[in-house]
This record gives sequence, structure tokens and C-alpha cells, in this order.
Amino acid sequence: MKLGKYSIGIGDRFARQGKAQLNAIIKAKELGVEITPVWNKSFREHQVVKSNPLSTRKEADDAVKLMNWQHSYFVDADHVGLKNIDFFIDCSDLFTLDVADFIGQKAETKDIQSFVEKYEKYAGNLKIPGIEEEFQISEKEIKQIAEKYLFAVQEAGKTFRHILTKKDKDTFVVEVSMDETVSPQTPVELLFILAAIAEQKIPVQTIAPKFTGRFNKGVDYVGDLEQFAKEFEQDVAIINFATKKFNLPENLKLSVHSGSDKFSIYRPIKNVLKKFNAGVHLKTAGTTWLEELIGLAEAGGNGLEIAKEIYIGAFSRYDELAKPYAAVIDIDSSKLPEPDEVKTWDGKTYADTLRHDQSHELYNSNFRQLLHVAYKVAAEMGETYLSALKKNEEIVAKNVTENIFERHLKLLFL
Ligand SMILES: [Zn+2]
Repeated sequence: MKLGKYSIGIGDRFARQGKAQLNAIIKAKELGVEITPVWNKSFREHQVVKSNPLSTRKEADDAVKLMNWQHSYFVDADHVGLKNIDFFIDCSDLFTLDVADFIGQKAETKDIQSFVEKYEKYAGNLKIPGIEEEFQISEKEIKQIAEKYLFAVQEAGKTFRHILTKKDKDTFVVEVSMDETVSPQTPVELLFILAAIAEQKIPVQTIAPKFTGRFNKGVDYVGDLEQFAKEFEQDVAIINFATKKFNLPENLKLSVHSGSDKFSIYRPIKNVLKKFNAGVHLKTAGTTWLEELIGLAEAGGNGLEIAKEIYIGAFSRYDELAKPYAAVIDIDSSKLPEPDEVKTWDGKTYADTLRHDQSHELYNSNFRQLLHVAYKVAAEMGETYLSALKKNEEIVAKNVTENIFERHLKLLFL
């Protein structure tokens, strides 16, 4: 099974917007660009919503059937490891093996030694096609990289082999992710990480490193754009080099775990993809759920009341909701609107404050980030929330499709 050159990971907390999401992909296809949709949902999201991967599978299958999508699509078990892989195994055909938690744990000395022996031939001056500068790599550095990453990649190998006990190797796609960590991996580290992945015989088709900068949930990139662009370009060149040298799948590409809405890095990414004729997987977070709120607010009446209720609930439970996401949000709580103020808002004010249009005077990234992590409040409303979505299906779907098409696909792929 092969993941296409361009693909996008779409999250959908409540599994109601599959059709509207796919509609954005169909619009891109009509304009001549094929992008593979991948429905991703992590263990944590399933736990909060009290859903299971079967619902994501059903959502994807139903959307594809109803919209008559004739091309490939996937259901991604997002950020999984041995401890939770079984929850996903039957319903998924893409597995994001997350090894970030194991970075820094040391593999056995003999494993490190034999890795270093095999790859010390890359020590010295290393010229990678497509990268202007030459890397100077010492044997000591290779050993340090092995000490930092080899164990983590071995863990990915274990998880991969566990999947093989249940599934044929040609029936799923593998991604390896190490983005949920503090310090970015350098292109040189990426080279040896890929070597280690090849040693584990993991047929990796996408790899998600941690890039430089902040990738907060649902808001734009914060960081050094030039550094990001350089790193991204070097990573693509490293991947080209590694696929040939280590015999990895030739369609191996970078996966950007964007946390959604990193509009300012789309241009540099697009430039690099063009230069190298490379593909990319853009994984977005579940901001579709924010489009649901925008749609409900715009619908007015009961929809708007529900949207307000969710914010007011979230405001009073700030610590509880923000804590699990502390590493990936930056909320200035002094800039959050008071519940009493929000109570007076009309639907347009709510929508304009939430919608990610940085040029709009009402847009408030603090409001947006808090609501992004507040899906638990909506999940607790149960039927009240879901039936409001159903009742206002059209206006919600319009926002969901427009968001993915106008603010993501158009900027990155078209
Ligand atoms: Zn991630």
C-alpha cells in the first residue's frame, strides 16, 4: 500500500464532518491536484470523546462512498506505541509510530557499537546532493546520535512487528513520528535515524521530525522562518539520500505535524517541494471542530447558545483543559474575553473572534486556542451538541470545507 505524493491528515473530533472534509479534497482534485485524505485521531482524542477507531473508519468509508471518491484514502492510528496499538489495529491502515517518549533512553551497548561500526563510513566530510554546505561528522557524533535515538527506533520496530502479527505488510502504511519533543532533530540526526529505521526493516513512508519553532494547536507558526525553511529543505535532501543509501521506500516523504494552521510555513514548504519535486504529508489537528463552533455561532439561535455555553464552560475549566496540552498552546489568559461579555455577542462576533483570519480585527488567538482544547466540554454535552450539528449541517459543512480548501489546500498544494 502506497501513500500518494501529497496527502493531508484531517482530524474530526466528533466524526460528523467526513463528507465536508472530503469535499475540500474533491475541489482540489477538480483543479487537477490529487491529495490523499487521511483521517487521523489519537488515543487521547478517542478517550476524551469516548469514541473508538471504528467510528473513524466508518466515517471515512461512508464519506468516500457518499461522495464517490474513487482514489485512495487512509485511517491513521495517530501517535501510537506498543501500549495502545491494539486499540487501533483492526480499523487503521496507516500507523504513526510515535517514539518521542523513548528519545534519550540508551539501547544496549552492543547494538550501539554495531550501529556505529556499520555507519562510521559516513564520518568525515559528507556531501549530500541538494545541500550546499558539507557536513562534518565525527565518529563520536554518530555514537551520540545512536545513544540518543537507537532505542527509540527499536521501539518503533517492536510496534511495527506487533502490527505484522495481525496484518499483512502490504495492507498498511507506516509513519514514524518524533515531533512531540522539545528539541528539533538536525538533518544529520535525521540521516542516522533513517539508517536505524532501515535496520529495523520498517517500511517507513513518512517521517515526522520535530522542526524548529513552536507548533501550537490551531494557530500560526511562531519561530524563525528562515531557519525552518533551511531545515525543511535539508531534511528533504537527506530523505532523498537516505532512501537510496538505506534502501527505504522510494516514496518516503516528510510529515509535518502542523497542529493545524501554520500558514506562514506553507510558502517555504511549497518552494522546497517544487525545487525537489518532493511530496509531503501535512497532518492537521482537529480544527474542524472549531469550524463546527463557527457554523453553530453563525446559525444563531440555539446553535449560538451552545457555542457560547461551550466557551463559558471552557473558561471556568481552564486549568483542567489546558494542562494536557500545555506544551502545544500559548494562551495569554488576560486576553480571554469574560463570559459575561461573550453572553452579549451575536453569532458574527463569535465567529469572527474564533475564525483564523489574522487580518480581522476581532480575531483572538487566545480565544481560539482555549476553544481548541475545549472539545471535552462539547463531548460532555453529548446529544445536545451532536443534534445541533445535525440541525445546522449545511452551515457547519460550508465552514469545514472552506477552511480546508481556502486556508490549507489552496496555499500549500495548488
Ligand atoms: Zn505529532
